Order: sequence, then structure tokens, then C-alpha cells
Amino acid sequence: MSLYNTQKLKIYNTLTGEKDVFQPITEGHVGMYVCGPTVYSNVHLGNVRTFMSFDMIFRYLKHLGYKVRYVRNITDAGHLENDADVGEDKITKKARLEAIEPMEIVQRYTVDFHNVLNTFNFLPPSIEPTATGHIIEQIGLIQDIIDNGFAYIVNGSVYFDVHKYNESNEYGILSKRKLEDLIHNTRALDGQSDKKNPQDFALWKKAEPSHIMRWPSPWSDGFPGWHLECTAMSTKYLGDYFDIHGGGMDLKFPHHECEIAQNQAAKGQAPVKYWMHANMLELNGARMSKATGNYINPAELLSGENDIMSKAYNPSVIRFFMMQASYRSILDLTDAGLAAAEKGFHKLMDAISLIDNLKTSSSSSFNVAEWKQKCYNAMNDDFNTPILIATLFEAVKIINLVKDGKATITAEDLVSLKETIYTFVFDVLGLVNISKENSRSDKLASAVEILINLRKEARLNKDFALSDKIRDELAEAGIQLNDSREGTTFTTN
Ligand SMILES: [Zn+2]
Repeated sequence: MSLYNTQKLKIYNTLTGEKDVFQPITEGHVGMYVCGPTVYSNVHLGNVRTFMSFDMIFRYLKHLGYKVRYVRNITDAGHLENDADVGEDKITKKARLEAIEPMEIVQRYTVDFHNVLNTFNFLPPSIEPTATGHIIEQIGLIQDIIDNGFAYIVNGSVYFDVHKYNESNEYGILSKRKLEDLIHNTRALDGQSDKKNPQDFALWKKAEPSHIMRWPSPWSDGFPGWHLECTAMSTKYLGDYFDIHGGGMDLKFPHHECEIAQNQAAKGQAPVKYWMHANMLELNGARMSKATGNYINPAELLSGENDIMSKAYNPSVIRFFMMQASYRSILDLTDAGLAAAEKGFHKLMDAISLIDNLKTSSSSSFNVAEWKQKCYNAMNDDFNTPILIATLFEAVKIINLVKDGKATITAEDLVSLKETIYTFVFDVLGLVNISKENSRSDKLASAVEILINLRKEARLNKDFALSDKIRDELAEAGIQLNDSREGTTFTTN
């Protein structure tokens, strides 16, 4: 561990409401769980921001020398339409609408999710478990919760008894809600529900005859509740008590609150030391919503094919834009903001391209060690990427001054400066160097990638007319697609 790593990392912990000094449960190791996507539609740009925040956090923890086991699940069953535990499973509903096998939906959108994340240069998590792959673990957990007296069975469904739980535990400990207030603010049950109280939530739902995704259990043929899968998968891979649990702000209640309750009820202890929540992404000052049309998806943002932005933006520019805000702040996505980020990003890359040709001197007019410490101080202060980026721009200024002969740097300092910039820009922030010259061909490559993916989708849907049309028209434009077992690549002539 270097001098810089001894600086204490502080993490804003939703549980304590403070920036806590990070002390891993097992020295040198970090267990981190992040709630993954529900794969019934293309990934939302707001979710991309959340996952990008945790990708940055994963990268920094690794850089500090921790051995990190990062688990991010795929919700491929059990996510009900709303949190009132009524209605259909989101994936089943989509499958019924499109008259295909639910696992086809899951496959299609899991592939889309990975494609989008790869485009933004995400590191893969250590383990990416699926809810359907952990039904046995979920049934085991429900049995433990029943055995400990915190759940009841009605008509083949199993519900968590929040009122009983609250007698000996604190329901609302994470979201700072009081059960009395929740009772006061919820409508009474309408007699349609099997639940004893509106605050109770489903651990297992008996499947209606029309429900396609179902598994046998001691209570009924049915499916698990959404909150349960994260408890099952996090504790299976990280232990009953682990370091970091992350997710979007909107998951704090009830999802994460229920995870705590389930763990307490099943295992008699709280599951997580540091709860982290990433904030929302807005679009032009308002909440993103398909219904109002104030909406853009990742593919549209990258291709420029949309009515909201003036042009296409490179994934690294979008990543740089997102990193300019703290993960805990609301970020407003605008065309002007992206254009400014594009300028800043190129300014940073231009300075980096100058480093190797700078003339060194016998003394430095800039304190590199102090500057390097400032970079670590920023990240150690709850992963403060905007301050880190501002600090990186102090180096950009120096690089340009040295180039113009208006400042000096020693050879030793230059090595340290370069190493630090590379570490933070490429390893921690996860940006990719693109020079202005090749950004046009990058855009072409991204556009062809999109077409390759559309063609793949068409083939999966057995729409061979469309897949052939895409291939033939690209060939006419001088772009040859080459299919192999590894996937599809392209060449231009
Ligand atoms: Zn979750």
C-alpha cells in the first residue's frame, strides 16, 4: 500500500446518514452487491448512470488494492408490476404481449444490457447471478422466515409479517420511515388481498393458471417475490453480513428496507455495513418518462437519432459527462451539458497526448506530489469525481504551460504526473482515449455495431428478410459483415 492509500476512504452510508470511514469486514477484501436490471425492456439511461457509478466505485476500490467481489444480479423473474404485490410479473406480461417464451425476453434484454454496458467501457462484475437460477435458495430463505415466526401462509402465498417483525426490530431503519406513519398513510386493504396488513409484502406468490413462470414449492406452484432474490443472492455469494450494498435511490424503499427485514428475520442479523444509493438522471430538467416523451435511450443518444440532442455523442464523452457530477447528486442530461463535456473531454485527451513529448527540467514549478494527494483526497471523500476531474484539469493547465515553456517539470515528476493521470482517467473513471481525428470512424463503428445488433435481434426473431436486408444494404454501402462463431465483425472497402 502506498502513502496515498493510507488516507482514509469515507463512504456516505444511507444507514447512518453520514460519511463513515470505510473499514472492510475482512481486511483487504470487499464484498459489494448492486441490484441489477429487470430484463423485460431495453436498459434505461438512468440505470446506466447508476451502474456506471458503481463501476467507478468498483474500479477505485480495486485500484486501492482491495480484492473486491462484486455481485450484480439479473432480475429475470418475480418483479411484480407494482410494489403493492398485485398484478402480473413484468416479464410474464411482456412475454404474453409478444406471444413468446419468457426466457426469450430475458435473453434478448440481457444481451442488450451487456452490449450497452460494454459500449460504455464497464468492467464485468465478479458474479452476475440470476433470480431464476436461485429459486432453491429463495425457498430455503422463506422457510427460515416462516420457522422464525415472521411470515404467514394464505392460499398458497407467503407474506412477510411487517407488524410482527417491527415488535422486535425496526422496520424503516434505512429509509427513516416509521411503521406508524406508513400505517397512517396507506389505504386499508380492499378485501381482495390475502395480506393481514397493507405493509406486508409477498415472499412467495401462488401462480394463477395463466402465469407462465412458475416453480414448485412447499406452499404452491408459484414464484418468489422480488425483494427476496437480492437477499438470497447477496448472502449466498458474500455471506450473511457484507460490506457494501448499492442501488438506485428509488430502491431504498421498499426494496432495500425489505432486504434488511428478510435478513434479520431469516438470519437474525443486518446484512450490510454500508448502504450506498446513486441518484437519478433527469432529461432537460424533468424526470425521464416514456409517457411524456421526455425520454431518450442509450442507443438513440449514441447514434444521434433522436429529437432531443443536436448530434451523436461518443460513449466516453457521455461517461465523462456523468462523472462530472457526484453519484449522490441529481444529474440533468442536456445537449448543452454534453457539448461542454465533449469540449472538456477533448481538452483532457489533448493534454494527455502531449505528456510524452514534454521537455523536462532540473526543477518543477508545480508540486506534483501535493497534486497527486489532492486526487486521492477527492476520491477518498465519498468518491467525489467532480473534484477529481477539477484536480485533473490543474494538471492539464500545467502540461500546456510546460509545452509553451512557461512552466517547468523534472523527469521524475513527469513520470509521476503521467502515471497518476493514466490511473485516474483510464483505470478509475473508465474513460477511453479517442482523439478528435478518429472520432468520425468511431462514430461509424458505433453505428455499424448498432446495425449488427439489430440484425442479430432480427435473426433471433426469425425475421430473416430484415436481417438479410441489413446485410445487403450495408454491403451496397461498402461495409461487409463477417459472421463467425465469435460473433459478427465488419470490414469496409
Ligand atoms: Zn435488489
